[in-house]
Amino acid sequence: MTPDKASRRFCQGLGRHTLGNLFKFCLASLLLLLFLVQSTCPLSAQGSRSFAIRYKQLQKQRYLYLSDVARFYGMNYSQAGKNAVLQSRYSYLLFSKDSRIFRINGIESNLSFAIAEHEGEILLPQVDFQSFIDPILRRSIVPKRKISHIMLDPGHGGKDPGAQNQGIVEKNLNLLFSRRIAAILRKRGYKVSMTRNQDRLLSLEQRAAAAKRLQPDLYISIHCNASANAAVNGIETYVINPAQTPSSGGNTFATKAAAGNAYDHENALLGFIMHSALLKASNANDRGLKRKQFYVIREVACPAALLELGFLSNADERKKLLESYYQDKLSVAVCDAIQEYEKALKPEQ
Ligand SMILES: [Zn+2]
Repeated sequence: MTPDKASRRFCQGLGRHTLGNLFKFCLASLLLLLFLVQSTCPLSAQGSRSFAIRYKQLQKQRYLYLSDVARFYGMNYSQAGKNAVLQSRYSYLLFSKDSRIFRINGIESNLSFAIAEHEGEILLPQVDFQSFIDPILRRSIVPKRKISHIMLDPGHGGKDPGAQNQGIVEKNLNLLFSRRIAAILRKRGYKVSMTRNQDRLLSLEQRAAAAKRLQPDLYISIHCNASANAAVNGIETYVINPAQTPSSGGNTFATKAAAGNAYDHENALLGFIMHSALLKASNANDRGLKRKQFYVIREVACPAALLELGFLSNADERKKLLESYYQDKLSVAVCDAIQEYEKALKPEQ
């Protein structure tokens, strides 16, 4: 239904209502109108006239015509074989038919649902457009909030070592990185809390409870990775996937929104800024910006990301992770990303 039909219905309805109900009716109609504007024409492009992005319902999912999305952003659109590209002076997006993997401004990322095709047109799931791509491309739509108190969560600890390779224990490296990041953030004027600042065992529930108690504005969980395949290397950044959407690389999803889902837009932008900064600083292999229901980022009531800074199971990456200059590079990158994110969300004075 288009906004036009809604206003017509609004006018016809007026005659049937008494004066007493008029206010309520006007309010309800206005809300309906706003809803319809949102659902048929989810966005109005920056400064330009708005128009409805066409959509198609396929297997319970609503898909948007990618060529319309490009037009909405004022980007060039091209389609060749399985691929579709949206490009402007500032942005480059590459999608592939039937794939959930796509590239956005230099990084690899994961859609909730695969790109579809209908009568020769490439289609993008609406949920990915609204809660993932749009907050990254149009930072101004992300709700403003003050980011001054950062909580760092060094993964594992105590009896839980995390990954272990060649005598290197993940829990220690996570704490080392967290301390470095905390020191830089404090120098830059942020308040920093840590879920643990010693080698001690903390359950996931205790980590989320710390966030509940101290109410940080941002929560970053720090981890290092491991794989049975020693060749695997690179950096991964995780944020929570929206409710009713599968996690990256899998098909499990939560039917109910968790505390972290109140920040889906914020998390999309946080994940993008963080992952881009980490890759740029390290030149590491891009393992992707991913979305998954990790407990700590799911249960905290603030924007949150979980970082996998590299693979201890890969000899070259393990060596790098132990070198001071590399630890510095990654730590500064995390802080730069937090600062960029803080600026993007800063409430107007
Ligand atoms: Zn870990």
